[in-house]
Amino acid sequence: MQKKTLRLILGDQLNYNHSWYNTIEPQVCYVLMEVRQETDYAKHHIQKVTGFFAAMYNFVEYLQKKGHQVIHYKINDPANQQDIGKNCLALIEAQSFQHFEYQLPDEYRLDAYLKTFVSSLKISSACSDTEHFYTTRSELGELFKGKKTYLMETFYRQMRRLHNVLMEGKNPEGGQWNFDSDNRNPYKGADVVPPPFLFKHNYKSIEKEIKKAGIQTIGTMEADAFFWPTSREQSLQLMRYFHQHFLPLFGKYQDAMHTKYWSLYHARLSFSLNTKMISPTEVVNAAIATWRANSPTISLAQIEGYVRQILGWREYMRGIYWAQMPNYKTLNFFNHERALPTWYWNGNTKMNCLKHAIQQSLTQAYAHHIQRLMVTGNFALLAGIHPNAVDEWYLGIYIDAIEWVEITNTRGMSQYADGGIVGSKPYVSGSGYISKMSNYCQTCYYDKTKKTGERACPFNSLYWHFYERHRTLLAKNPRIGMMYRILDKMEPAEKAAVLEQAEQYLEHINEL
Ligand code: FAD
Ligand code: SF4
Repeated sequence: MQKKTLRLILGDQLNYNHSWYNTIEPQVCYVLMEVRQETDYAKHHIQKVTGFFAAMYNFVEYLQKKGHQVIHYKINDPANQQDIGKNCLALIEAQSFQHFEYQLPDEYRLDAYLKTFVSSLKISSACSDTEHFYTTRSELGELFKGKKTYLMETFYRQMRRLHNVLMEGKNPEGGQWNFDSDNRNPYKGADVVPPPFLFKHNYKSIEKEIKKAGIQTIGTMEADAFFWPTSREQSLQLMRYFHQHFLPLFGKYQDAMHTKYWSLYHARLSFSLNTKMISPTEVVNAAIATWRANSPTISLAQIEGYVRQILGWREYMRGIYWAQMPNYKTLNFFNHERALPTWYWNGNTKMNCLKHAIQQSLTQAYAHHIQRLMVTGNFALLAGIHPNAVDEWYLGIYIDAIEWVEITNTRGMSQYADGGIVGSKPYVSGSGYISKMSNYCQTCYYDKTKKTGERACPFNSLYWHFYERHRTLLAKNPRIGMMYRILDKMEPAEKAAVLEQAEQYLEHINEL
């Protein structure tokens, strides 16, 4: 007879199709818990904590309806010791469990914690895969093993071949692996942007419990304005809506930003994916099926651009994380030390691009990729903010922020604090890129055309200041050499004025 078993499910392991749930086993009991250990490791957005609690609640209900036994610790339950190990141990002792099981955590922190926990147990234990990603953790380890550099493009092609996605035999469908160059248009109003699909949950009761527990949060949540899917069914609804309405222009406007549209053509599926309510395989397969049924309305460039994000970037970042942690968390290639400007926490800045990206992050717990990379991330890098402070902000503010995908994007792709493991050069720009890809500059207090003088756009002087101060680290990078040639051709007086302007701005960074 099977041993009496306790199975732990973490808040980001809400995989409705996991093989654990295929059979109802009377000897097996599941446990999910809302604990301070998880709400307090960063100062999270109120919608993030609410979203996780609501999604866990719906998952518990789903399991119970199927006939599984489930214990669910709520945040204010008197028996809740606010610690995963302590709660599990109390249950094991009180209910005489003989065996403990958990699924591989995606965070290094929890992975180490649970390994230590099970090693201290007097009962047997086992660990299963989450059955979510394209690659298992050990397969990923093999793919990244012994490599000095990890090129995303090489990994992506490998994944396309391995999983036979958009392939014609050994060749990529359409004869090309990458359609990135077709996918970088600003949004100028010619195409209609369908309204985003928003759920209207009223989760004020959850917010009340969070407040009662004394959990510190950031951001806001209006009544009836929790937009995010919190169950598998809702996640599928959002996915279908995206495929039907946004996929035809997803790639084309992937990098665009606009004051009128906070999510433009983006999927907003990252919370559903990262909590595992839906799987990358089903999202990619459904997108490809939609493309096949609607070609040529949906072009290959659009679908390839989308598949690359999920099959490529998402799985690649996970590979980097497990190949590089725990050291990755300490990397600070530029030795940046500055504190994060105070307006990152309230959006009160005259810089229109940052104001929009930050205020939207505070109200929606979301900004799309280019806002994260080329606005908030770009400024933090140019200004020399300590990567720990940048990580802390990104880890807290976004509903989809879980360390494995947050830190690799923030410290790696955005801040180049890893010295080039993820990206081959820092993602920095002056106002030129932001002005080309958005309408932010049109109504900004600052003048995008000026490097110095009154109301000169801070990005313009900070850009050259960044290159000048990191000359020894960057000048030899073949992808950057041209920037140094431009800098060195500048008239000495002009160069001095630009650097002085940047110094002034850095000195008064909280007033920008
Ligand atoms: P879409 O643009 O519609 O893309 C579809 C899906 O592709 C996303 O849902 C996501 O699962 C995947 N995807 C796209 N780009 C990436 C990427 N670079 N890495 C991993 N997956 C990707 N993503 C997170 O999920 N969690 C984070 O904490 C996170 N932090 C980020 C921090 C910075 C500084 C940057 C530059 C990017 C970060 N990203 C993060 C990646 C990306 O910005 C988000 O996945 C995306 O904005 C989520 O919105 P969406 O679902 O509308 O994405
Ligand atoms: Fe941002 Fe500069 Fe444009 Fe203003 S002018 S929106 S600060 S890039």
